[in-house]
Amino acid sequence: MKFAALLAACFASTPLFAQNNPVLGEDAAKVSDHVWAIMGWPNIGIVVGNRATLVVDTGLGPRNGATIARVAAKLAPGNQKLFLTTTHFHPEHAAGEAGFPAGTILIRDAVQQHEMELHGQEMVTMFAGRSAQQKELLANATLRTPDVIFDAEGAIDLGGVTARLLWFGGAHTKGDELTFVEPDRTLISGDVVQNKVVPNIFGDGGTPTSWLAVLGKVEALHVLHVLPDHSAPGDGAMVEMERKFIADLRDSALRLKRQGVSADDAGKQLGAEFKAKYADWPSMNVAGFVRSIYAE
Ligand SMILES: [Zn+2]
Ligand SMILES: [Zn+2]
Repeated sequence: MKFAALLAACFASTPLFAQNNPVLGEDAAKVSDHVWAIMGWPNIGIVVGNRATLVVDTGLGPRNGATIARVAAKLAPGNQKLFLTTTHFHPEHAAGEAGFPAGTILIRDAVQQHEMELHGQEMVTMFAGRSAQQKELLANATLRTPDVIFDAEGAIDLGGVTARLLWFGGAHTKGDELTFVEPDRTLISGDVVQNKVVPNIFGDGGTPTSWLAVLGKVEALHVLHVLPDHSAPGDGAMVEMERKFIADLRDSALRLKRQGVSADDAGKQLGAEFKAKYADWPSMNVAGFVRSIYAE
């Protein structure tokens, strides 16, 4: 599949919840004691300690990055130190870095940085071609080298609160990063755990099996609150809901595969079946994920 087709597939599953407006506002909602969120496309996490602040994701382009930095400064006026990390390398999550103040400490996992180096600029160019608005927002976007790169875990002590940055393996992308905030037990989950959204593997990101393995590790964290990137926040039960959905879809698709049903037909059949079974999910386009299951 060509990269453009992969991109189209990525957006086919954009949930109804997500605002389509790529310009973030300045309202922050409280998720837990130390965690705030700007809800939009995508949701942005802001973790506030006594000494330092961590922002998770940049918004699309520098103007959004600057908005987030203003909100972070308002939430913690005394904090001079600002950390920035990204859930994955896609432009609405990572291409707003240039809008943050000089001295912001950029940190991400090594696998994600590798994907950024391979495909980051290509995706910025592609997004800029989607509309005049996105072109304008992405003008002057830079993809600078992080100040800190970690392999499996990086912990940041923000003063009275610790953010554990975790790479558990591939899911939506190869480099998906999770942020687990202690003592809140809040997970900023990117696409890995979402709220009633059919999972989507972008390009040659993870596999259904690796996604399930990641969720197994997430379950061991005993999460209380979840802030996903493209759906509504919720409680720790979202982790088990995500795992059960993927396991259910995988078992069902593999059964059809053994019966000799084609991937396309299985996608159609399971789309209808799961629409009835998971009636409160806003959309049920499982074709892409079923193809991923067949391909393993
Ligand atoms: Zn993405
Ligand atoms: Zn996204």
